[in-house]
Amino acid sequence: MVRYSVEVKGIVQGVGFRPFVYRLAQKLCLSGFVRNTPQGVSVEIEGRKSSCEAFIKELRESPPRLANIEKIGFTELLPKGDTGFIILSSSEGLCNTFISPDIGICDDCISDITSKSNRRYRYAFTNCTNCGPRFSIINDIPYDRRNTTMDRFLQCPACSHEYENPYDRRFHAQPNACPECGPHLSFFKNGEYLSQDPIDLFNLCISRGEVVALKGIGGFHFVCDAKNEEAVSRLRKRKLRYDKPFAVMMKDIQTVEEYCELNPTEKKVLASPQKPILLLKKKASCAVAPSTTKLNDRLGVMLPYTPLHCIIMQENEVLVMTSGNLSDSPMVFRDEEALDKLSVVCDSILTHNRCIYRRVDDSVCFVINEKNYMLRRARGYAPEPLHLDGGKSTILAVGPQQKNTFCLTKGENAFVSSHIGDLDDADTCKSFESEIESFIRLFDAVPQAVACDMHPDYFSTRYAYRLNIPLYPVQHHHAHFASVLAEHGLKIDNAIGLIFDGTGYGEDGCIWGGEALFGGIQESRRVGHLRYFPLLGGEAAIREPWRAALACADIAMGRETALSLFKENPDEARILLEAGDKKLNSPLTSSMGRLFDAVASLAGVCRQTSYEGQAAIEFQQLMEKEANGSYHFEIINENEIMIFDWRQLICDIVSDLNRGVSAGIVSVRFHRAVVELIAAAASYERGKT
Ligand code: ZN
Ligand code: ZN
Repeated sequence: MVRYSVEVKGIVQGVGFRPFVYRLAQKLCLSGFVRNTPQGVSVEIEGRKSSCEAFIKELRESPPRLANIEKIGFTELLPKGDTGFIILSSSEGLCNTFISPDIGICDDCISDITSKSNRRYRYAFTNCTNCGPRFSIINDIPYDRRNTTMDRFLQCPACSHEYENPYDRRFHAQPNACPECGPHLSFFKNGEYLSQDPIDLFNLCISRGEVVALKGIGGFHFVCDAKNEEAVSRLRKRKLRYDKPFAVMMKDIQTVEEYCELNPTEKKVLASPQKPILLLKKKASCAVAPSTTKLNDRLGVMLPYTPLHCIIMQENEVLVMTSGNLSDSPMVFRDEEALDKLSVVCDSILTHNRCIYRRVDDSVCFVINEKNYMLRRARGYAPEPLHLDGGKSTILAVGPQQKNTFCLTKGENAFVSSHIGDLDDADTCKSFESEIESFIRLFDAVPQAVACDMHPDYFSTRYAYRLNIPLYPVQHHHAHFASVLAEHGLKIDNAIGLIFDGTGYGEDGCIWGGEALFGGIQESRRVGHLRYFPLLGGEAAIREPWRAALACADIAMGRETALSLFKENPDEARILLEAGDKKLNSPLTSSMGRLFDAVASLAGVCRQTSYEGQAAIEFQQLMEKEANGSYHFEIINENEIMIFDWRQLICDIVSDLNRGVSAGIVSVRFHRAVVELIAAAASYERGKT
């Protein structure tokens, strides 16, 4: 007989880890106990040595689906002669620091809802320990049913039995429910409740080309048939979303393969428990309506991730599924609001009476060189913490104005919020504030200090000042630099970082965004940047890329030559340049995003944009495979600062275009120039040290 203490660190709470340990111990005839601790899970096992070893082996090799074990440590103890194995509840004060993200439906639950003899056949709220809503329904800790929006549904005897049986996969599954005791669907048309089967009504409306608002895990989506051009373009018009591609949901992996190119890594990400939206290359034969993606050659695809999705996708192959919001405001997630606001866009609403406590957007990913990159980290990922090696303090970082997320650290854990959105809208600002309060409560972490962007007028910055605790303003691009170093665990202080961005407040009051920094996480200094040019007309230049083209051409080629390129609106162009001369509403920028705008616009792509990054995206997608050659940035040393000079590059582009070189070739040559700049700037700077 031997006894071991086993400490497991990582994502091991709220993922069915304790029942898993219980079943494993029972199977191997081990006695002892398991319980949650602030660091993870603590187990003591006693029994035959070979059984204990088998226990640790299985823990390592086949943990529960959602667990992510960072470390297993074990020490031998003296046997105590326990009989039986028990699950100890986490004692008060031993606060559960981990809250699982919302997880896509598992295969076992899919088989429950698709088999006619199962009591959950076609039941839209089926879930188990391995899947279902979590973060979107919790309003306080600990993660118990009473602290979720499921508290109003009392489990029936059959569900209670599952909930209390450690051998059942619904043991302690907090949102457990069935048609007897759980939430139900309802369908509204023109504000009126219809009593027929909601799923049948939904399918009927979709087949007629109508737009339906559908309540999901973290909010409402607008849904329509992605193969029906009329339906999709109607949705665009009503939603006032003109060019930005819509995401779609496809029935299954086979369908995705029919529409898009799909490599093994992409397949894995798409089908992972997180079920994100993945940007995939459309096949030439891709049969979605042109309005779904507009000029984009990528399609954002996700698989059904709730039982409700699985049920509706039995009758549908591919549906547009885009956030249920009006133009730029955040996704609607409450029923009162849905009935009120969404009817401007949709013809009917499929909803239910399980409330969503917090808005959680879909996550968006894309795969490059077999690695998954996150464009928007939300459903399925947030609030899973990132590991901060050696972290000690509790700090709130409030994030920027655009595409805001914030982060709350507690010791070695960094809890990053899900995507909040642009803090330009009262609703978004409100969820920013309430989410911060909620994080402080859920993770039991009162911040000792706050970090914010240096920009004085960001909503998040002003919020940080109001907290009245030690405050650390951080330069925007240093924050990008430091976060990449942290992500890769680089504890060095002589790193060179090239940060290419749209907009960030610079230490000299200019708008930075094409920067070279030298240093480490603690501090860095600016050692290089793109040559400045004026943002003619300020903010408006961001929506009208031709203004950046005008400013760059003016500097590179002189006024009259520049104006000759803008024959459509010569007067407006001249007035803007003259205002620029007088420094009227023309802040200087070193933004790489704006340089992309300038070049894209010169090449005839996208004079005006209707969503962020549109010019660069459309310009990138033009690239021709067979093109040769490259443009070139000159690196000029001005008082020990590298200036990345684009003047000759602009001249070369204009002369290429005048000679009839295609925009696709110009695009390739420009992208190569940017890549070469990264290498050249890094080695130039390294040569100095
Ligand atoms: Zn499940
Ligand atoms: Zn039930």
